[in-house]
Amino acid sequence: MAVLQTRALKKFYGAIRAVDGIDLETEDGELLAILGPSGSGKSTLMRMVAGLEEPSSGDILVDGVTVVGIPPKRRNVAMVFQSFALYPNMSVRENIRFPLAARKVPSEEQRRKLDWVVRILEIEDLLNRRPTRLSGGQSQRVALARALVRDPQLFLFDEPLSSLDAQIRSQARGELRELHDRTRITTLYVTHDQLEALGLADRVAVVHEGRVQQIGTPRELYHDPSNLFVAGFIGDPPMNRLEAEDVVIGFRPEHMLPEADAPHGERALTLDVEVEHLEFLGAEWLVYGVVRAGVPMGVRPPRVIGRLRQAGPPAFGTGERKPFVIRRSDACYFDARSGQRTSASKVAVA
Ligand code: ADP
Ligand code: MG
Repeated sequence: MAVLQTRALKKFYGAIRAVDGIDLETEDGELLAILGPSGSGKSTLMRMVAGLEEPSSGDILVDGVTVVGIPPKRRNVAMVFQSFALYPNMSVRENIRFPLAARKVPSEEQRRKLDWVVRILEIEDLLNRRPTRLSGGQSQRVALARALVRDPQLFLFDEPLSSLDAQIRSQARGELRELHDRTRITTLYVTHDQLEALGLADRVAVVHEGRVQQIGTPRELYHDPSNLFVAGFIGDPPMNRLEAEDVVIGFRPEHMLPEADAPHGERALTLDVEVEHLEFLGAEWLVYGVVRAGVPMGVRPPRVIGRLRQAGPPAFGTGERKPFVIRRSDACYFDARSGQRTSASKVAVA
């Protein structure tokens, strides 16, 4: 186990600021997700931590000691990429032992470590197979075993599940979390998939344009986004926005309540919504509409999406106008210019 820190870490490729000043600190044994859109600098960050790329400036420390300049082989770090690249001509057993053999680990210890990872990942029955005869999920377990067998201080995952199909992806996610709970190896987990980050991680760092936008538990990010980027990136459908000149009011789809569901004293806004379209999703309905009245001064009639947690059909249909209420405790206010969170007091509601 280990604590990983980055300090003002930067990586520029000519004019491209791939990583533009990242300060992170994991807790010991934590699974920290790095969540951001494609091109936000996630892989560059991971490659620097692994030692595959030199920082332009800044520092990387493991347990308080800098690792910058130390070659990848001498960093006690295991990295699992999207494409696992098992050696096709070796059995699963040989694949897993390979990193130990390459380091000339005594064979008795090799056997012990192999037993350990085989037990943890439950791959006993795969050991004599060739990688070509494994399913996607099985290959992933073997790749994990091969990374784990080195007993790393740090695990680095860069979108390890993105080549699996949706169905086994959620199962693989559960297995990864279980593996982490058993080993408690400090882990950085890169993904662009918010569900993966929220579902898997102890904390999530949201990155955008090479910088950390916010770091917090999944619940903090969802309920308390510190800027508009985080508010829009996390949540599906995303947070609704009412945009005025100075301020943006945000609220989650499930916080757009039918009028009867919110006491008067708690209301921040009452929106008159023309329902355009209803979508049935099994345990819930999505309500697509246009706000016709009730928005703050200067706000153009925006489109909104509401979420009703009910299996039965809503008490209204397409084309109807219905009042929906946003409670004060559910509204988030942002400065329109900077995008940063602000207090409600600056807002004049018509
Ligand atoms: P992510 O993993 O979040 O998709 P990357 O770290 O791969 O993002 O890339 C961040 C930015 O840096 C992108 O604009 C990408 O094009 C650029 N970049 C990454 N690697 C290189 C490189 N070797 N040379 C030039 N530009 C690069
Ligand atoms: Mg990447």
